[in-house]
Amino acid sequence: MRSYSLLAPAKINLYLEILGDRPDGYHELVMVMQSIDLADRIELRANGTDQFRVHCDHEQVPADQSNLAYRAAELMSQQFPEAFARYGAVDITIDKQIPVGAGLAGGSTNAAAVLVGLDMIWELGLTQMEIQELGALLGSDVPFCIVGGTALATGRGEKLDGLPDLENMHLVLAKYRSLSVSTPWAYKTYRQQFGASYLCQPGDLECRRQQVHSGPMIHAIAHRDEAQIGKLLHNDLEKVVLPEYPQVANLRQVFQRFGTLGTLMSGSGPTVFALVISQEQAQQLLTQVRATIPDPDLELWTAKFIPAGIQVAKP
Ligand code: ATP
Repeated sequence: MRSYSLLAPAKINLYLEILGDRPDGYHELVMVMQSIDLADRIELRANGTDQFRVHCDHEQVPADQSNLAYRAAELMSQQFPEAFARYGAVDITIDKQIPVGAGLAGGSTNAAAVLVGLDMIWELGLTQMEIQELGALLGSDVPFCIVGGTALATGRGEKLDGLPDLENMHLVLAKYRSLSVSTPWAYKTYRQQFGASYLCQPGDLECRRQQVHSGPMIHAIAHRDEAQIGKLLHNDLEKVVLPEYPQVANLRQVFQRFGTLGTLMSGSGPTVFALVISQEQAQQLLTQVRATIPDPDLELWTAKFIPAGIQVAKP
């Protein structure tokens, strides 16, 4: 087939702990990642030329070579020059539903969709692991976005251990449209404030990874204990983002006031989410938060957990 339409889901972090520094300048992390059904739609269509083109009408998304989807296509053409010569380039059309600069891996999941889609259009027959390895060259979150579901991510986020699916847990997401947080700023500030307590010895890092792996959050996920999952939500980056962005801290407090299972900022923010037990509760919570903060700049979504990453979209 010469064209594919793919669904590229957003992710949230149920857990994010910063362990230490890495020689490559990134941080050593332990995270629990979760795919949700808030998704972009990516269409790839063979264009009969040797030029990749990106089309996206979202004002915050670049349509040039800096788009992560474009960079994914370029990487594929470099890695598979014969297939590129035979099948040519594609037009990449991004229907953006995931808020930009939100801590939801919007760019990474678009890149993941292009890797998966070009593998099919160019008939490469790559394994999922091979596609994930290519994804890691583009960004730490890209491998997770390819496989999706529920996973423990270590290293800089690219090493994945699948966890039992938490399909159909419900949530509400909230983000101020005009607010975005720079991921490099959040990590740099964290290092400035907490770098002195980083683990340095490889043995200590491994020990902490093992503790999280056999710890209460993973146990709660294995038993689908929704109440415990809600209580154990954790994100180290809240320590630097919430004091700097009082609006985000306030959002979190408003969610807490309405008695959810738990609430957290995702990734480096500024999106805040709250877990609830049903779609009805999600809708009710959304209405309550909207009534409490009638600011038109505040965007709200209901969503649910899904067990997959990039999927071919049903027509
Ligand atoms: P992460 O959670 O991985 O840190 P994010 O959700 O915070 O990512 P993105 O939505 O990926 O952030 O956007 C970060 C920046 O990347 C924005 O400034 C945006 O202009 C740029 N960008 C490049 N390509 C894309 C894309 N395909 N979709 C969204 N943003 C993109």
